[in-house]
Amino acid sequence: MKLLIADDDDVNLTLLELLLQDLGHDVVVARDGAEAWEVMESENAPALAILDWVMPGLDGTEICRRLRQQAKRPYQYLIMLSAKEEMEDLVEGIGSGADDYLRKPFDARELGARLAAGERVLALQDELRARAMFDQLTGLFNRATILERLQREIEHSMRKGDPASIILIDLDNFKYINDTHGHPVGDEVLRQASKTLTACVRTYDEVGRYGGEEFLAVLPGCDASSALHVAERMRESLSTLPSSTCAGLIHVSASFGVATMDGSHCVGTDVLVAEADAALYRAKRAGRNRVEGSIARPGEPELTG
Ligand code: GH3
Ligand code: MG
Ligand code: MG
Repeated sequence: MKLLIADDDDVNLTLLELLLQDLGHDVVVARDGAEAWEVMESENAPALAILDWVMPGLDGTEICRRLRQQAKRPYQYLIMLSAKEEMEDLVEGIGSGADDYLRKPFDARELGARLAAGERVLALQDELRARAMFDQLTGLFNRATILERLQREIEHSMRKGDPASIILIDLDNFKYINDTHGHPVGDEVLRQASKTLTACVRTYDEVGRYGGEEFLAVLPGCDASSALHVAERMRESLSTLPSSTCAGLIHVSASFGVATMDGSHCVGTDVLVAEADAALYRAKRAGRNRVEGSIARPGEPELTG
């Protein structure tokens, strides 16, 4: 595991570094609080840090307090290291946001055991994070995550003045598949449809499960005509590749609503999704297994394709 050790005492730092390397960890070192803070708030920060309490500049408790204020970060497990021995010190250390407290001088076995406890907590945190981000059935982003990605993409497109498109996808007559073959077979079809859709997009596009049998694809930098092509490719793949299920091969098709922003107008996620939804509705009305599209440009007539 990648972890940070921060201590202004060179002898302690080297000792810790050797010990942790022996335990197989990838060790990053910091010689004062400011350096430690810089590492811990960087993008690829270690998930675990051992922080000396007393350091020049920022001390360990201040680093803990600051990191705990950053609610959006993945959880970082923080161990406070100190020669302070009083109960009040332990309480203050943990109170500042540390997960654990290690007294100097420490025993190597105690350090190993406390690190193992930290790794267990981090593994649980990772699992919770994955559950909150991904759809359990298909493994795709869930609705909240794909909408968050869309919001981020819209902001990026506005800054660069680039286009971006979305495709809202709804499987056709899916209720019939459930009614005929049962819910578990319907689940298999959903899983395979999600794979087929994902295979039709570029690596930097994103696909999420928007609802029951609805998916949302976010296509950065994609103008209306390219997005209509992607949707057409998805439509064709889905309708020509039957899903292989325990009830045999099952044919499924979908209807597609495409919406594009050209990057010159401010468009909200709700406006873009509403445009895609309106296009999808037209595709359903026109007989299903179709692609319809529009350009989200408030105040101007809609272009359809
Ligand atoms: P349309 O072409 O108009 O979209 O018809 P439809 O039957 O696909 O649409 P409708 O909204 O009537 O039915 C959607 C069905 O999708 C009903 C619901 O039970 C099913 N569904 C939603 N989530 C799941 C799921 O996770 N697994 C399975 N097997 N079915 C699901
Ligand atoms: Mg639906
Ligand atoms: Mg449907």
